[in-house]
Amino acid sequence: MTAATRAFVTGIGGQDGSYLAERLLDEGVEVHALAHAAEPLPRAPGVVLHRGDLTHVHEVRALLLDVAPDEIYNLAAVSSVARSWSEPELTAQVNGAAAVALLESALQLQEKTGKSVRFVQASSAEIFGEPASSPQDESTPIRPVNPYGAAKAYAHLMVDVYRHRDLHAVGAILYNHESPRRPAGFVTRKITSTVAAIVQGRAASLTLGNLDARRDWGWAPDYVDALVRAARAEHAHDYVVATGVGHSVREFVDAAFRRVGITDWGSLVTTDPEFVRPVDPTDLTGDATRARELLGWAPTVGFDELVGRMVDADLDR
Ligand code: GDP
Repeated sequence: MTAATRAFVTGIGGQDGSYLAERLLDEGVEVHALAHAAEPLPRAPGVVLHRGDLTHVHEVRALLLDVAPDEIYNLAAVSSVARSWSEPELTAQVNGAAAVALLESALQLQEKTGKSVRFVQASSAEIFGEPASSPQDESTPIRPVNPYGAAKAYAHLMVDVYRHRDLHAVGAILYNHESPRRPAGFVTRKITSTVAAIVQGRAASLTLGNLDARRDWGWAPDYVDALVRAARAEHAHDYVVATGVGHSVREFVDAAFRRVGITDWGSLVTTDPEFVRPVDPTDLTGDATRARELLGWAPTVGFDELVGRMVDADLDR
């Protein structure tokens, strides 16, 4: 496995994009990023930034053919399920059609230069919707239940189509992955930032939706590591990337309060129907056996440690 010389990353302003850029720059990779006008600048100095909109297919194609990367990581997305309900068309364009256009651009680049192009699509556990059984793996039926999952499912299916056209295309089926860089719209960061605010006297209580929802929460830099391993593996496959251990929102709340020494948190947490989703997968847990076996990948941070790191970062902020 030799490090690539040039990578092209979309979604650089997000949690995963920032960790990926840092990782690739550390390795000496030349990192190019496509960022739209409103996207925050990458934290990692040294990224070659190209301003543009992923849905402007022809501009992006011309740019990609010009940059001629060895590796392409498509992390750009309308990243929250909640937002996808209010903006389904935008979600379809960004999470679905734009990913497909990028796959086509990657194939055109490969055909033009004759060198292998590695394409990694950030797919999502949401493509499985309300799965009949847990954990899920790469053969679990794709049956999304929200606009986010449906758009990601389309892109995921097209990865397989392009793999059959000899593109090294990977669908990394990422389960929830968190870090102190997670925006507060996600339940984990909402919990840890509010627990820190309660401890510091800046908030009185924490208001949530469904406390019984279960997710398989992992450490974001571990998931970025899986993306890089999959890009550089000998063969292209889809991979479930997950810890294999599910926890409820209630357990996350409990772990966050325990971190600050509060065990009796019942009176500090209320629920509000405003935060309950119209349709919500109740148990998403992934089986990452294939990633372990073929990529040598394994998560390095367990649940309590993950929650603890996020709470500590919010206390320091
Ligand atoms: P998602 O899995 O990508 O939708 O990630 P989120 O962190 O937004 O939500 C994870 C789970 O937490 C979902 O099942 C939500 O229904 C549940 N949840 C419960 N209360 C809240 C809340 O106040 N905010 C959010 N974002 N999710 C909540």
